[in-house]
Amino acid sequence: MAALNPEITAALFDPAHTCRTTRPFARFAWKFADAALDLFFPPHCASCGNPLPEFINKSLCLPCAISVRWIGSDRCLRCGDSVGEGMGAVHACVSCRAHPPRFVSASLAVLRYESGPARDLVLGLKFGGKSHLAKTLGYIMATRIAQTGLLADYRDVVIVPAPLTRGALFQRGYNQAEELARVVASELDLKLETRLLKKIRKTMPQAMLTEKKRRENLIGAFACDAKRIKKYQGTTILLIDDVITTGSTISECARTLHDAGIQTIVAASCARG
Ligand SMILES: [Zn+2]
Ligand SMILES: [Zn+2]
Repeated sequence: MAALNPEITAALFDPAHTCRTTRPFARFAWKFADAALDLFFPPHCASCGNPLPEFINKSLCLPCAISVRWIGSDRCLRCGDSVGEGMGAVHACVSCRAHPPRFVSASLAVLRYESGPARDLVLGLKFGGKSHLAKTLGYIMATRIAQTGLLADYRDVVIVPAPLTRGALFQRGYNQAEELARVVASELDLKLETRLLKKIRKTMPQAMLTEKKRRENLIGAFACDAKRIKKYQGTTILLIDDVITTGSTISECARTLHDAGIQTIVAASCARG
């Protein structure tokens, strides 16, 4: 299996990828700020800690990037997970045939969240305070969304990140899904809406629970802003999360949006667990 497909290679090692704005001053200002930051805080690989050479992505060195199990063309269109080598894009994997994700018509993920560098990246973004990793991961997500045609049409698409409770947001300082969503929205020139979907109650950490308990844990945990939802009737919502494991969080977010009248919901995550 090719560890790095060409799209992922371009996304990780394209030196121009940190800024896509066409406004010359903004581009200059961004590059200047980025270069100044690198001078004082040289970037290191998020997995092995080795210094990263100039003009490389700000997340992983090449050996670590190669050891990540990226999800390329062999994938499930419904849940976004990888499928057997050579199978190509399938409409429903074994898991989706038994339990298709509810209210989500199509999904995409960019890597398998297992061990090693993939885990270091995701945990660094989620718990390690490394919100800057969202820049690389969000860019790869945007690249894959564009390449795979996850969105049939870019008109009337709104990006909505999976929300955190106010308490969790305060503790972490940022919502990792929102950081990814911000980059995806900027790269694809789509509207980002962070106040439509809210997490209204604290839930048990999903990782500690069985699949059935995960679903029960999230029932009624999300709500839509009643005023904002009216604006988005007839739009496609692209839900963004950092990791999708059993899909319970995305399904519950999607159910909440569906119950509020949204007909078309697709999902993208940086990792599948
Ligand atoms: Zn490394
Ligand atoms: Zn599937």
